[in-house]
Amino acid sequence: MAKDYYEILGVHRNATEIEIKKAYRKLALKYHPDRNPGDKEAEEKFREITEAYQVLIDPQKRAQYDQFGRVFDDVGGAQDFSSTIFDDFFDDIFEGFFGFSRGGRRRERPTRGSDIETDIEIEFEEAVFGVSKKITIEKEDLCPRCDGSGAEPGGKQTCPTCHGKGQFVQRQGFFTVSTTCPTCHGSGQIIRETCKECRGRGFKYSKKTIEVKIPPGIDAGMTLRVSGEGNSGRYGGPSGDLFVNIRVRPHKYFKRKGNDIYLELPIPFTDAILGTTVSIPTLKGEKTLEIKPGTQPGDRIVLKGYGVPEVKGYGIGNMYVNIRVVLPKKLSKEERKLINEFKKVSGNGYMKEDKSLWDKFRRFFKK
Ligand SMILES: [Zn+2]
Ligand SMILES: [Zn+2]
Repeated sequence: MAKDYYEILGVHRNATEIEIKKAYRKLALKYHPDRNPGDKEAEEKFREITEAYQVLIDPQKRAQYDQFGRVFDDVGGAQDFSSTIFDDFFDDIFEGFFGFSRGGRRRERPTRGSDIETDIEIEFEEAVFGVSKKITIEKEDLCPRCDGSGAEPGGKQTCPTCHGKGQFVQRQGFFTVSTTCPTCHGSGQIIRETCKECRGRGFKYSKKTIEVKIPPGIDAGMTLRVSGEGNSGRYGGPSGDLFVNIRVRPHKYFKRKGNDIYLELPIPFTDAILGTTVSIPTLKGEKTLEIKPGTQPGDRIVLKGYGVPEVKGYGIGNMYVNIRVVLPKKLSKEERKLINEFKKVSGNGYMKEDKSLWDKFRRFFKK
């Protein structure tokens, strides 16, 4: 009987990548050999969940497994566990999410700076047409004095505990378990004198004003990524990214839904009946709009291509003018007389099919 990888990770068959990662992380933390030294059962369990994870997280292997109940290339096994790929994958899982490292001389590896996030509010038209905005962000920059090391220039020395190795290595069954040197925390060196400028932190906060190009068509709730404007990396690692969350101030007249623009246009009922021309605002400026005689409440006029350009650069939305016919709520004597006159003359003849509907209602209730 083949192993049920889903059962091993405790996820259902339709589990998403995120759910699988989550489940694995939880179990890996529990059974990791560093946390269960000498426990054979935990070690075996750890090997098992890792094998399940490696299959289920890989869409190709997962599909194969779902179909055939096994995966044809040999995943798992001792050699996989000591490979560099696995190391990196592991560092990702643990460092990224739990903020602790597995040891080794990690501190000297290039590390990417973390991402930062900021909000910006722009005008409706700026979102439509695009804009360049200057924003000031606060971020961690490498300390120029110590270049991120936290030590005064020349203020380091070889760690006396591990003699510069940074770790102690031990074999434990499948695993090579390396323990980080407690004195130097894996760097192999200790700081004799901390940097005067950053007091050993290795970075300092600095304010920077950058110009962000906001593309035409952007909408509220979208996020722009500005590469390399996050916190500085260390040991030659790249900077993180800056994420700019877009907020958009509402417009006086226009509503936006996706790339379409909506305008509500009130029209006197007489103009709806007789027809007229009106000037309306559009994204392209003022436009004369023809209201045809006999325009009905709720009629909609479509202005093709008067919407918002697609942010990715393909196509443009439309503008929809929704007609709201305004009827008088009160009439003067004179107006009342004229309306009555109209009623007499028309005999409600313009109702046509709507009138016959009334007759149908009447018959319906008589039954
Ligand atoms: Zn410094
Ligand atoms: Zn050491």
